[in-house]
Amino acid sequence: MQHCPQCGSGNKDGAPICAGCGHALPTAEKASSKETASPLASHLPRAPSKLSFLAILSFILGFGSLAIYAVGFVFAIPGVICGHMALKRIKSSGGALRGRGLATGGLVTGYLEILLGLYGLINSI
Ligand SMILES: [Zn+2]
Repeated sequence: MQHCPQCGSGNKDGAPICAGCGHALPTAEKASSKETASPLASHLPRAPSKLSFLAILSFILGFGSLAIYAVGFVFAIPGVICGHMALKRIKSSGGALRGRGLATGGLVTGYLEILLGLYGLINSI
């Protein structure tokens, strides 16, 4: 039972208009507006894309290895591996994972450090 705000007469629950005066009942209005809003609402709370942990790790290992050039070799290799794994996962996530730039940065610096490390090794022999 719901009461009409216009005339106060009792109406059946879910009735679109008042049987007494024909005024549109607020509960019916609310229910219909909820129905039209629900497809929109399901779009709104989209899961935010997550930054790939592997991409961050790759970036840290890659740049970190360059910073400590002498022994950076040790960190550059896992950095490159993480970078490749991160890019693969970001690609297959379909937008759920972010961090392409980080992973690419980690890869580039990782490879650079490996090259520098090899160059250093060859020169030291
Ligand atoms: Zn009424």
